[in-house]
Parts: sequence; structure tokens; C-alpha cells
Amino acid sequence: MRKKIVAGNWKMNTTPVEGVELAKGVAEGKKEVCDCVNFIVCPPFTHLSEVVKVTRGTGIAVGAQDCATEAKGAYTGEVAASMIASLGVEYVILGHSERRQYYGETSETLNKKMVQAYANNLTPIYCVGESLDERKAGKHFDVCKAQIEEVVFNLTPEQFSKLIIAYEPVWAIGTGETATAEQAQEIHAYIREVLASKFGEAAAETPILYGGSCKPSNAAEIFAKEDVDGGLIGGAALKAEDFLAIGKGF
Ligand code: PEP
Repeated sequence: MRKKIVAGNWKMNTTPVEGVELAKGVAEGKKEVCDCVNFIVCPPFTHLSEVVKVTRGTGIAVGAQDCATEAKGAYTGEVAASMIASLGVEYVILGHSERRQYYGETSETLNKKMVQAYANNLTPIYCVGESLDERKAGKHFDVCKAQIEEVVFNLTPEQFSKLIIAYEPVWAIGTGETATAEQAQEIHAYIREVLASKFGEAAAETPILYGGSCKPSNAAEIFAKEDVDGGLIGGAALKAEDFLAIGKGF
């Protein structure tokens, strides 16, 4: 039985005070959602410490949105995985398309971030997904495969057993466009096949989340698909009510 996961990527939104209120709202409302759903909130770095405190004991886990490639040292502006983990944070989003696109993240950078994440017991939520041009050209399978082969294939079987994948078509992120449930299932099943080609049966246990304008009105249809194990939610994670309603989509 794979875990059902709803993770919220708050991106660069909310003040620390607003973030704490949002986290409290999620923790409070979680009681009305099936215990079988694992909620993760991923606020900006500045909020992590307080959000960990207010979610402690509530069943809500906390993730960061990124981590540094290096362990420590003269890397102005960077935040090390060890610093994040020391706060009680359990997850880290790696390879989000906004980081690949705006900050030039490559597989080389992401391999280093993976090393840091695992060395500090952070579970990576590794994002893959194609641009609109790539989808139109029918290259979406190849793009996702390459993003997996170049990074995930370097993990040990033990590391792989903890990994979460998020399939996020770039054309659906923050655009209001959503992949159809069929499109999501097709590529999730393909991603699982690619994972199985390297890690065998363990791939059957890997949670693969869908991300891209997922909201209360479309979550249930997408989550009903066999290889979709939940969602990575951007915009709709900024309202506790909507985020929780997505969790009710299982
Ligand atoms: C995201 O950026 O991870 C995301 C899925 O955003 P949105 O839900 O806003 O499309």
C-alpha cells in the first residue's frame, strides 16, 4: 500500500505570521480528513522553525522548498540541509521547475542536493515534468525519463526506498491548466516503469504525486487514478480550507 500524500508548496508567499496561521489552520482542520492522508507543508525557510513548532504532534509534517548543494561554508545566501533538518523538518522539495527554470538548476546541482538531503535524513520530493513545447512535440516521456535517469538512478536502493516523486507538467503550474486525469495516469505509470527498470519491485512503493493547478474541484478525479498517490499543491495550498479539501479527494 503506497502512502497517500498531499504536500503544499507555499513558494515565496505569506509572512512568517501569516504562515503560522495557515499551518495552524491546516493542523486544526486535519481532524476532519481521513487519517490515511499524509499532509506536508513546505513554507519559506524563514517560517520553518515556527511552523515546525505549531504543527508538532498534529500529524502535519514540514518540508523545505530547497537546500544547498554543499554541507557548509562560504556560500552566501544558501541554507544547508543540516540546518533545515536541525529544526525538525523532514522533507525537502528538489528540482522544482521554477528552480530549474529561474535558477539554472541542472541534474548536476540536483545530484549534490540529493546527497545533502539524504546525509541529513531529509526525504526528497523530487520534481520532474515537461514544458509546453516539449509536450506539444511529444517529448514528455523522454524529458521525465532523463530527469529521473540523471538523478534518481544515482541513489542507492535504500535511499530510493524513501524517495517521493512529483510529476509537474510546467504548462500546468500556476496556469489554471490541469493535466487530465488520463494524462496524469499515463505519465505516472510510465515514470513508475522507468523507476522499476532500475530499482525493480521497490518502484511499486514509490509515491508519485501530481502537481499543476490541482484544486478541490479536480483532485478527486486525478487521485482516483491507479498510479497517482496524491498531489504537490501550489496556489491552493495557501488557503487551509482548500488544501484540506484536496486531501478529502482520496
Ligand atoms: C507547484 O508549483 O508545485 C504547483 C503545483 O503549483 P500550482 O498548484 O499553483 O499549479
